[in-house]
Amino acid sequence: AVAVCAPLPVLGRDVEVPLVGGEKVTYAALDYAASAPALQRVWDDVAAYAPYYGSVHRGAGYLSQLSTDLFEQSRATVAEFLDLRDGDQVVFTRATTDSLNLLASVLPAGTRVFAFETEHHASLLPWRRDDLTVGYLRAPRSPEQAVAALEEALAGSGDGPKLVCVTGASNVTGEIWPVRELAAAAHRHGARIVLDAAQLAPHHPVSVRDLDVDWVAFSGHKLYAPFGAGVLAGRGDWLDAAEPYLAGGGASRTVARELDGSVAVEWQQGPARHEAGSPNVIGAYAVASACRALTEAGFDRLVDREQYLIERLRAGLAGIPQVRVLTLFGEEHPRVGVLSFVVRDWNSSHFSAALSAEYGIGVRDGLFCAHPLVRTLLGGETAAPSECGAPEASLPGERSLNAIRVSFGAGTPDEHVDRFVAAVRELVSDGAQWAYRTEGGRCVP
Ligand code: PMP
Repeated sequence: AVAVCAPLPVLGRDVEVPLVGGEKVTYAALDYAASAPALQRVWDDVAAYAPYYGSVHRGAGYLSQLSTDLFEQSRATVAEFLDLRDGDQVVFTRATTDSLNLLASVLPAGTRVFAFETEHHASLLPWRRDDLTVGYLRAPRSPEQAVAALEEALAGSGDGPKLVCVTGASNVTGEIWPVRELAAAAHRHGARIVLDAAQLAPHHPVSVRDLDVDWVAFSGHKLYAPFGAGVLAGRGDWLDAAEPYLAGGGASRTVARELDGSVAVEWQQGPARHEAGSPNVIGAYAVASACRALTEAGFDRLVDREQYLIERLRAGLAGIPQVRVLTLFGEEHPRVGVLSFVVRDWNSSHFSAALSAEYGIGVRDGLFCAHPLVRTLLGGETAAPSECGAPEASLPGERSLNAIRVSFGAGTPDEHVDRFVAAVRELVSDGAQWAYRTEGGRCVP
């Protein structure tokens, strides 16, 4: 037996949900990639702070001062968690999508952006500004191919500003990308690089210094801190040179009415420039609390525990021939606790509905906001899925139009993975299903 640490306490461990027959079971949350449950520690920290809640940067009272201090300390905690360089900034945002849109808004006009088509839509789409050009790179089939493709795209791309956007770990396959090598390639060609760490940061320590990326973005709600905050961290020069992402109080240092009737603004430098409006202090505090909790629990031990669960899952699924795991780099490639698959003769939406209704297991089905990647993995371009997933693919033998994703993390007990594997085995042994009737009738063809 492998000696691994215990899961960290999270909220929702004892939540009971009804099954189709009326019986109740404890919920198995296996959708961490969408939103992870809050660490108990984050919840406790937030509850302990709540009586002292006050406005940040906007009050003379004691609790306002305290909240301001905690907000700025949270920034420092995140900087330490990400191992930032001197001079790097931490900007609090709403989540990864917001962070990447913020970065897109500060890119100098004419910046050439390079992104693999395998990205999550949050890192694929924000660059579509009129004054930028975007080069989408085809899905690579190995980490080496990814680096070579980027090198090729950047070679001869000129002297102007360039940005590469890359994911640290895929939200579909869970595969870990060769970030350090891609950053080196980007820098060799004078490009900057932003790391979408939405899926990597909750599962692996991220060192900005060591990976040598220019920016990193992640979401609190995937890092066990579901209180509405995310982070964009990294180099300050483009952030300080651009117009604020949002215009308003907090972003402006002075505002004066001119004699000609216009209004002159001097904007802040530093993170405040892009944090207009009253800051989400509880969200920031929760993110910092999660960073501390992961570090104090021993992030490396959590990584080991997750790898142990991944092996348990892989071994279980390997014994079920109807299951096809989706992968770009091969099933043996290192991954985080995220895995997508299809089941022969099953519609993925119906399969996921059955996992919920008959076993109390919460997974996700669909195209996971990464349509080009999932279509590539499923083998070809497909029509957009209908509201119910893809009922038209539910006939036996037809190709799936969407997939099922199982994902877990620091709070997942062995039992959830075991229950999941047993449920998959039982469902496929029921034989081909061309329709699964959920109780509410949502996916009845
Ligand atoms: N990037 C990746 C890789 C993701 O998995 C997600 C969320 N699924 C995002 C970006 C967007 O994160 P959010 O919805 O928290 O903005």
